[in-house]
Amino acid sequence: MKILVMNCGSSSLKYQLIDMENESVLAKGLCERIGIDGSVLTHKPAGGQAWKQEAPMPTHREAIQMVMDALIDNAHGVIKDTDEISAIGHRVVHGGTYYSESVVVDDSVKEAIRDCFDLAPLHNPANLMGIEACEAAMPGKPNVAVFDTAFGMSMEEKAYLYALPYEYYEKYRIRRYGFHGTSHGFVSGEAIKMANLDPKSAKVIVCHLGNGASVSASVGGRCVDTSMGLTPLEGLIMGTRSGDIDPAIVQFVCAHEHLSVDEMLNVLNKKSGVLGLSNGISSDFRDIDEAAAKGDHHAKIALEAYTLRVAKYIGAYAAAMNGVDAIAFTAGVGENDKVMRKNICAYLGFLGVEIDDVKNDVRGENRIISTDGSKVTVLLLPTNEELKIARDTRALTEK
Ligand code: ADP
Repeated sequence: MKILVMNCGSSSLKYQLIDMENESVLAKGLCERIGIDGSVLTHKPAGGQAWKQEAPMPTHREAIQMVMDALIDNAHGVIKDTDEISAIGHRVVHGGTYYSESVVVDDSVKEAIRDCFDLAPLHNPANLMGIEACEAAMPGKPNVAVFDTAFGMSMEEKAYLYALPYEYYEKYRIRRYGFHGTSHGFVSGEAIKMANLDPKSAKVIVCHLGNGASVSASVGGRCVDTSMGLTPLEGLIMGTRSGDIDPAIVQFVCAHEHLSVDEMLNVLNKKSGVLGLSNGISSDFRDIDEAAAKGDHHAKIALEAYTLRVAKYIGAYAAAMNGVDAIAFTAGVGENDKVMRKNICAYLGFLGVEIDDVKNDVRGENRIISTDGSKVTVLLLPTNEELKIARDTRALTEK
């Protein structure tokens, strides 16, 4: 069974064709600049060279047609006929309170995705365009929607409600949703398997530390709390996002800098985080690490503040679950930065966390990095959101 995984942005489209017999990636690629001049497809068959093709892609429809053509191309293709594709799995950012699991797309699902446009105005319209373009390009094939917010839907009211007038929840659905859910769900499941924990009761904390970053707490694979909120701005310090701040700062800065609220949100999303804290050095941890190593004070503080924030969330989530069996690190920083992992875990001695420096000296591999005597199993687990989307798509469409 072959499954096409789609991740559509407003002007881009990423795809992977996965053979579910052995969960291997047959080909992957990316369409960029959809709807603007200079549209280009980059297609890479497994084990082969990347192939670039420039052609106009006024909408996602033309982009998907180019992907189909590339997949069956004589020289660069990996299948003979698009009929070999059994189903298409789509990343959809927001499912509101409608979906706590992935779902086969029908008219009511499309209506729900549309109903969540105001909750994810940059992503949901593009995700829906991708679904409709696939329906047009491959009529009759099942499409599955895999929601980034689904994992967070198992939170209880005490975790998802904000302490605001209740009418805002009723009128506008203002609550904690959580994002990166596909990654948190995948990594917590893999952590339970790898650490040999009880799948019904395991208490797992996942630290998804990429450019965007979030932490989740789950019991038996069901999310009980997560750090991103109504939007991805809340929680950890990120590459360019502030994470948690005193909300009154917004009014204060707007008044003094003569900014509108929208402009201030742009500052909080794009100019803050380690980029802001480092006084503009970079949003990329490799640059910050390098500057800190050369003695730059701002870079050093940015790293320390980042580390402290992650550790504080882990401590809070251990309290929320009354214990923790495993802590897993994933995404760009979590998978590659052994110093960051070690420094975060240095705060967690009170939980009985003990890192093995030799085991921790690794990148991007599935591995337990705590000592045999550590009370909590600490793992490095590369995330694979595409595989999770493909697995859900298979489970919902296999006859
Ligand atoms: P996203 O999917 O949110 O864009 P990723 O999970 O790909 O982000 O993570 C990207 C980030 O990972 C980069 O911005 C960089 O800061 C960090 N990163 C990648 N490699 C390393 C490394 N070797 N050391 C430290 N940080 C790294």
